[in-house]
Amino acid sequence: MTFTPQNLMGQVSNNLAAVRSQLPEGVELTAVSKFQPLEALEEAYSAGQRRFGESRADELQRKAMAMPDDVEWHFIGHLQSNKVRRVVKCASVIESIDSERLLRLVSSESERIGKVMDVYLQVHVAAEETKSGFSADELIDCARRCVDLNGVRVCGVMGMASNTDNVERVEADFAAIAEVGKRLREIISDASVLSMGMSGDWPIAVSHGATLVRIGSAIFGERG
Ligand SMILES: *Cc1c(COP(=O)(O)O)cnc(C)c1O
Repeated sequence: MTFTPQNLMGQVSNNLAAVRSQLPEGVELTAVSKFQPLEALEEAYSAGQRRFGESRADELQRKAMAMPDDVEWHFIGHLQSNKVRRVVKCASVIESIDSERLLRLVSSESERIGKVMDVYLQVHVAAEETKSGFSADELIDCARRCVDLNGVRVCGVMGMASNTDNVERVEADFAAIAEVGKRLREIISDASVLSMGMSGDWPIAVSHGATLVRIGSAIFGERG
């Protein structure tokens, strides 16, 4: 491993403690560990963190094999069909379901291995076209059509705000994600998870009702 000053000084556990102390009661944390070395995850684990977020199938698989069994892995990246099998095997939650086709594929693969996968449907509200996800109406239509799938449990919505300094835009994006969550609960009453908020904007997300925040760089530092 490379000894960066960061992990020598216990910076990860310090950052983690700082984030936790600011999170209101009832708001959960996914520590986004994508692109971070195993040592950083181990430090967070030692500090009590059990929920980690990864965005690539290969990296998730590698880290899941190396870390203790009680880690709850959240997949948060764009998931390609040919990686579904690997991710279904390792993940506890797939937060980034961005098409009906993917949802059906995850369901059938989960059923095949005797698992019911917890999933969130990803909504796209941000300004950047490069971000993936359903439109609000597509997400609701998909949820209606897929209530009978046996291999997945739709637990909520995941979304990202626009990457901008314009606070009003960010506020509007989180409000829109929260609104989709509300519409989803009219179809699936216990789909109560609202996963939104990252290092740069999570306090705004929390003020709009986030129940789960996904924080990477504020805990682990910049990604290499
Ligand atoms: C990388 C990533 C995060 C964490 O971003 P930070 O700005 O490092 O906190 C959260 N959510 C998703 C979907 C991501 O891809």
